[in-house]
Amino acid sequence: MKYYSLNQHSPKVNFKEATIKGQAPDKGLYFPEKIPGLPESWMDDIEHKSNETIAFDVIKPYVGNDIPDDQLLRIVEETIHFPIPLVKINDRIFSLELFHGPTLAFKDIGARFMSRCLGYFAKERSEKITVLVATSGDTGGAVANGFYEVDGVDVVILYPSGKVSSVQEKQLTSLGKNIHALEVNGSFDDCQRMVKQAFADETLTQKRLLTSANSINVARWLPQQFYYFFAYKQWIRKDTPPVFCVPSGNFGNICAGMLAHVSGLPAAHFIAACNANDVVPRFLRNGEYQVKPAVPTLSNAMDVGDPSNFVRMLELFDHHFIRLKEKLSGYTITDAETKTTIKRVKQNTGYLLDPHGAVAYLSLERYLEQQPHQKGIFLETAHPVKFYDVVEPVTGEKIAIPPSIESILQRPKQSTVIASDYSLLKEYLLQH
Ligand SMILES: *Cc1c(COP(=O)(O)O)cnc(C)c1O
Repeated sequence: MKYYSLNQHSPKVNFKEATIKGQAPDKGLYFPEKIPGLPESWMDDIEHKSNETIAFDVIKPYVGNDIPDDQLLRIVEETIHFPIPLVKINDRIFSLELFHGPTLAFKDIGARFMSRCLGYFAKERSEKITVLVATSGDTGGAVANGFYEVDGVDVVILYPSGKVSSVQEKQLTSLGKNIHALEVNGSFDDCQRMVKQAFADETLTQKRLLTSANSINVARWLPQQFYYFFAYKQWIRKDTPPVFCVPSGNFGNICAGMLAHVSGLPAAHFIAACNANDVVPRFLRNGEYQVKPAVPTLSNAMDVGDPSNFVRMLELFDHHFIRLKEKLSGYTITDAETKTTIKRVKQNTGYLLDPHGAVAYLSLERYLEQQPHQKGIFLETAHPVKFYDVVEPVTGEKIAIPPSIESILQRPKQSTVIASDYSLLKEYLLQH
C-alpha cells in the first residue's frame, strides 16, 4: 500500500515511511492510495472469526509487506489484548466500551499498535527514534503506556503543568525508563507550539530522528477501525445495520469508522457528537467550515477547535458535500446537557457514562427520535473514573477506583519542569 500526502506536494511512501515520518514533508496528512474492500462472504462470516483474525485481515492490506505476517499477527494480538464488549443500555441504544485497556481510554488501541510497529521498524535501524508528543491529558498516558520499554524508541511527552487530572498526570509521569515527561509551565497550546517548532527545526531534526504519535500518524489512525468490526460482530440484528455515534474532537476515531464502512462494514449512518467545539456539526448544517479557538468543556478530550483529521473525511467522500451529508450528521451538546444526561441515564438504566460518552449518548438519542426504525451504538471512549471530578458530584455516588489506577496513584511522579520556551526543549532533546 502506498500513501499520498493530502497536500499533494510530497512523494508517495509505504506504510513504514508513513509511520516513521508521521506527517508528509509538505505538512499534509498521509492517506491510503486505495481503500481495500472486504468481500461480502468475509463480512457474513464475521461472527465466527476471532477478534485477532478480524483485526489482522483489516490491517494487512494497509501494512503490505513492511511487516512479516507472523510479526503483524503478534502486534495485533498485543494491541487488542483486553475486552471490547457491546453493552445493551435499552432496546435501541448500545454502548461499545473502549475503556478496558491499560489507561482506560480508547487511545490505548491506536497507541499500542503504533508503538509496536515503530518498535519493529526501529530494530532495523541503528538510529534511535524519538517520539515527541504534546498532550492535554489522555494521549500522553496512552502513548507512555504503549511505548514503555519498546527498544530503540524514546518518548518525550510535554504536558501543561497543573492542567491535567491527577490520574492522567501519574499515567504519563510514573513509568520512567524510555518515557520522559516534560512538565511545561504554560498551556496545552504552548506545549503544542513547542512540539511543532521542534518538527520544523532542521538543525534539530538532522541530529535526532523525531516522529509524532498523535492521530495524524497512520499507524495510530488505521487500527481504530478494528473495534467497529468487533461491534458489528456482536450486533444481533444483522438485517438492520447500526447507526454509529462517536464522541469527536480531532476526528480520527470517527474517520476510522467511516473508512471501515467504505471497506464494507455495514452501517446505517454516522454521527459526530461534539461539545461546544462544534466546527463540523456547524459545517454539516450550513456548509461553512469555520475554525474557532478551542473552548474548555467537561469533555475535555474533545476540546479541539480545528480538527486535523476532518480533511481525511472529506477525501474519503471525494470532497462531495451531499454524499458526505447522507452518511454523517453532527450534534452539539452543552456541558449542562452532558451533566443531566449522566444523571438521567444512571437513574433510569443504572449505566454510568463518562462526559464524552454522555455527549455521544444524547446525540444518538436525538438522531433516533427522527429515525424510529433504527438502532444505534455509541462509542464509550473513556472509563468514568478518569473524570470522577465531573461524574461523582452529578450522580452523588463514589466510583470505585480500579486496582490498576490505584497502583499508579501510589507511584512517584518523575517529571522535568521547564518554562514554555522552545530553546529549552531543543536543549533537552539534544542532550538526551
Ligand atoms: C481523544 C478522545 C476523544 C476524541 O477522539 P478523536 O479521535 O480526537 O475525535 C473522545 N473521547 C475521549 C475520552 C478521548 O480521549
